[in-house]
Amino acid sequence: MTAELIAFDRVGKRFGDAVVLDDLSFGVRAGERVTLIGPSGSGKTTILRMLMTLTRPDSGTITVAGEPLFQEKRGDALVPAGEQHLRAMRRHTTMVFQQYNLFPNMRVLRNVTEAPVHVLGLSPEEAEERARALLDMVGLAGKLDAYPSQLSGGQQQRVAIARALAMRPDVLLLDEVTSALDPELAAEVLDVLRDVARTFDVTMLCVTHAMKFARDVSDRVLMFNEGRIIESAPPDELFDAPKQERTRQFLRSVL
Ligand code: ADP
Repeated sequence: MTAELIAFDRVGKRFGDAVVLDDLSFGVRAGERVTLIGPSGSGKTTILRMLMTLTRPDSGTITVAGEPLFQEKRGDALVPAGEQHLRAMRRHTTMVFQQYNLFPNMRVLRNVTEAPVHVLGLSPEEAEERARALLDMVGLAGKLDAYPSQLSGGQQQRVAIARALAMRPDVLLLDEVTSALDPELAAEVLDVLRDVARTFDVTMLCVTHAMKFARDVSDRVLMFNEGRIIESAPPDELFDAPKQERTRQFLRSVL
């Protein structure tokens, strides 16, 4: 049993001839906030998608709370984890995507109550109470009856954050959640996420190009390049005194 909530052990992934993750190992402790940075195409989103069981690794193991996500050992053989196991594991983790992915035909409140009722089995009343508190926290108490199309991109993304938190996840994955937004709306969303980081005990794994946000919320920043972690350090150290030339070069291009 590992002390790490999330552990990648020698994970490899190819798409065709392209090596996307190259023998990758890293861990995230419970409650830790970790940000993944690095050039486009370096494998960051693939890591989040694997934690959501949307993409399978070719080799290696990924465990969450000590349980393998994809493979179970029977004797010497590795067999794929069954659908029931995957469903149970998915409850630990929620993800907010770049393109909010709200249910367009449901009002804001229902977007947030839907999964707690249908997946967690909460009563509609409990789910609504939880949803109202979260929507209040993200500044949308006045928009409970709106449809997603009536909201700005920043408001939609804040609903998506409330919806993810309504599952009371152990792990919150954030995949470039502000990159579809103009700077002012992005700032609103990042402020909400700073609140989330202060208020909830949730383990956060973020992919972002918002370096100031990464500096503010992260305990640790991992610099990716070509499917490998080339540098891992607390944000002040990584941003102010990067050790690798590739990290310096990347930071010059985004800061
Ligand atoms: P990042 O998040 O660092 O930009 P990604 O993890 O999204 O990187 O992608 C890593 C590489 O894998 C990219 O070259 C991307 O084009 C490729 N890739 C990702 N998903 C797929 C897929 N489903 N099929 C083929 N190639 C993919």
